Amino acid sequence: MVAYGTVSEFDVIVVGAGIGGLTAASLLAARGLKVLVAEAHNQCGGNCTSWRRRVPGRSGLFVFDAGVQDISGLGPSGPVTNLLGQIGSSIAWERVHHLYWIDGIRVAAGQSQRAFVDALCEAFPAQADGIRRFMTEMAAIYRDLYADVGQTGGVPIPPRLEALHDWNRRHPAAARWAQERFADMLRAFTNDDRLHTLLQTVSEYIATTPDNLSVRDMAPLYGYYFEGGRYPRGGSQTIANTLAGSISCRGGQIATKTRITEIVIERGRVTGVRTAKGQTFTAPLVIANGDVVAMLTSLTDPHHLPAGYARRVASLKRGPSAVLVSLGLDTVMDLPPRIFIRKDGLSFGVGNPSVLDPNLAPPGCSAVTLLLLLSEAEAAAWPEPTDPSYRSHKDTIAKCLIDAVEQAVFPGFSRHVVYRETATPATFTAFTSARNGNIYGAARAVWRPRMQTPIAGLYLAGAGTDTGAGIEAVIISGTRVADAITNPAAN
Ligand SMILES: Cc1cc2nc3c(=O)[nH]c(=O)nc-3n(C[C@H](O)[C@H](O)[C@H](O)COP(=O)(O)OP(=O)(O)OC[C@H]3O[C@@H](n4cnc5c(N)ncnc54)[C@H](O)[C@@H]3O)c2cc1C
Repeated sequence: MVAYGTVSEFDVIVVGAGIGGLTAASLLAARGLKVLVAEAHNQCGGNCTSWRRRVPGRSGLFVFDAGVQDISGLGPSGPVTNLLGQIGSSIAWERVHHLYWIDGIRVAAGQSQRAFVDALCEAFPAQADGIRRFMTEMAAIYRDLYADVGQTGGVPIPPRLEALHDWNRRHPAAARWAQERFADMLRAFTNDDRLHTLLQTVSEYIATTPDNLSVRDMAPLYGYYFEGGRYPRGGSQTIANTLAGSISCRGGQIATKTRITEIVIERGRVTGVRTAKGQTFTAPLVIANGDVVAMLTSLTDPHHLPAGYARRVASLKRGPSAVLVSLGLDTVMDLPPRIFIRKDGLSFGVGNPSVLDPNLAPPGCSAVTLLLLLSEAEAAAWPEPTDPSYRSHKDTIAKCLIDAVEQAVFPGFSRHVVYRETATPATFTAFTSARNGNIYGAARAVWRPRMQTPIAGLYLAGAGTDTGAGIEAVIISGTRVADAITNPAAN
């Protein structure tokens, strides 16, 4: 533990124990740096945490994820596989597969690209040829974008400008499509609106609407169909605990319940941090992992930033927030671990991880989550917890989602609910200090800051940076920061 009230010297301080911060910290600790991770909450993980509840009359605990249940980047040379290999840790993963119920059309994606294509062709026979050509092209784009990860430590790095021509020649599918709007690419191959809706559904993992997403944004998400998503046995907290364990066992320090209120900058370079309790910790390098706008406006004196950069940061649009309904059921639904429902204009995801890991609930029971994304405007319109309408708002939306599950995929669903808790934008803010409860960092399709800031020694890692949200993306972000610090010449 860190001795409070004293001044400590570290090689690097990480502000926030989200997965991006823990990734950078675990790699740097493994490379011999003296690391401190300061986390405001009482446990590590940020959005990638789990919590437990005992329900009267049930023997054992329900384990609920704060959100994360479907993780990409676990192919043989994927970024997550690469990270765990570098720090010498392992996690027991279960394969996640999807079921889509889109306005009455039911498609089970199965365990492979071929199974998904066959299921799509069966549901949309008139589109079969276009579906096959589209999925072949997406697979080629995906391969192109990840082609060099064997040489870049599992991280897909965009080519430098001077190498772009050669890169495009070697990766023709990505060169042809990556910058195009994904919706336009879909239209180039198929012409059924309901099929387009289905093929854009997985965009819920990064945005509230697919409208402005590019093929480059969507290609990594198609990795879920090509290489499969994974769920960590024990719940999403397992990932954070594994990384935190690797930091601690190499002498790194993790200070939970430690809120950083200032990133200290002297003569244009970072020198350390100050905590809410008045302690100062010094280091020549600081990695800011929390909400990027807060990190660069509230914690850092914006006068240290070039005016144009400070303006861009301050005007960053927030990403989506969400309503997350966690349910304890007295049964286990014989359905895939991830279900996407679209009904009467409502689109949401159902997490059913107990089919992969029965230890997430008492015997015969299951832990289920319903996740509805909210746009920045919808999140801003949510009442505060002190507002008299807050509770009824939560009840109404939870019942609406439960009814939709009941009507679409599991008759009698509501009768099996033995526990219910609903998280709102205010909950996400309370647990991660993200403005307006945003869950995916800054919005897509707008400028987002890179890992290197204009302040010497200050780096950014996590969902608010240019690599974006999702466990794979923030692991890429944290890996790139660690690589930039230990091998600056290569970056
Ligand atoms: C409901 C939901 C569902 C999701 N589902 C998936 C999924 O299935 N698959 C997937 O890949 N991704 C999913 N994601 C996205 C994924 O969880 C995030 O992109 C990722 O966890 C963000 O990591 P991060 O490194 O940006 O840190 P964050 O998770 O944002 O954590 C930042 C940390 O910094 C701490 N902090 C902030 N300010 C301070 C301060 N001043 N001092 C000290 N500490 C501070 C916070 O307490 C927090 O712990 C989901 C997210 C949510 C919310």
